Amino acid sequence: MTDIIDGKGLAARIRRELTQECADITARRGRPPGLAVVLCGDDPGSATYVRNKAKAATEVGILSEVIRRPATHSQAELLADVDQVNARPDIDAFLVQLPLPAGMDANAVIERIAPEKDGDGIHPLNLGRLMMGVPGPRPCTPQGILALLDYACTELKGARAVVIGRSLIVGKPVALLLQERHATVTMCHSRTTNLADEVARADVVVVAAGKPRLVRGEWIKPGATVIDVGTNRVNDKWVGDVDFDGAIGRAQAITPVPGGVGPMTIAMLLANTVRAASLRHR
Ligand code: NAD
Repeated sequence: MTDIIDGKGLAARIRRELTQECADITARRGRPPGLAVVLCGDDPGSATYVRNKAKAATEVGILSEVIRRPATHSQAELLADVDQVNARPDIDAFLVQLPLPAGMDANAVIERIAPEKDGDGIHPLNLGRLMMGVPGPRPCTPQGILALLDYACTELKGARAVVIGRSLIVGKPVALLLQERHATVTMCHSRTTNLADEVARADVVVVAAGKPRLVRGEWIKPGATVIDVGTNRVNDKWVGDVDFDGAIGRAQAITPVPGGVGPMTIAMLLANTVRAASLRHR
């Protein structure tokens, strides 16, 4: 029997808890936590993500604002927008939705965000804090992945974990969080030779490659826990990076796509916003 890890349900529970925290903060300081999302350009996927984030924020009682800028916006104009949001007293946390239009330097934009308002937890100072193991906002998807592993009662101490993908927002930070929890972590990527052998040794597999059904069911060690971060549109359906049907019956537990990691990413953005508001108030 394979457990299907209900990310949607866990995210709903976290949002309910955040609703209470939000109400408390609003009562204490006379205004709600504020989240802004800067959306530059007209990428349809990004527009959907941003809409979902804003809707979820409003539902828990966060004041949410989407700042829309055209694809013709210049880098200097976007940096000026970031400066403005940094200075706004009503915004506690914000993010600039990635990817940015071609030609823009995303790293320069991320570095410009005030670290204490870094909703995504990817400012270099906060990534440094993550590496040092000191408190700070953590990247949303990796935080969500750890919460899903705990929810599935996965033993991480001493476990052999394989992370596929080395992006700044998922692969690299989730590997650090898994190490912090005493897992032995192997990082795999597009140049890894013999991915199947790496996966076959893993008690925990986190896949964030953006390649539909990259990980085959028969690669998975019986009893492993599988977190599928991939979100790929195939024939009008969302599919992950793992062959879900092949994994059923082998894995101990697996996240579905959709309904696994995605809702948790949003819940963790809301959690980062509420935490930032609470820290500022103090
Ligand atoms: P990315 O697109 O920046 O990079 C992909 C990574 O996968 C790279 O490090 C690359 O080396 C590795 N990779 C590519 N092909 C590979 C292969 N054949 N074998 C092994 N490794 C390979 O990564 P990202 O931004 O972390 O996104 C990865 C996927 O996760 C995408 O599908 C994205 O949409 C999804 N994602 C989902 C959420 C969510 O909340 N559900 C959040 C972030 C990303």
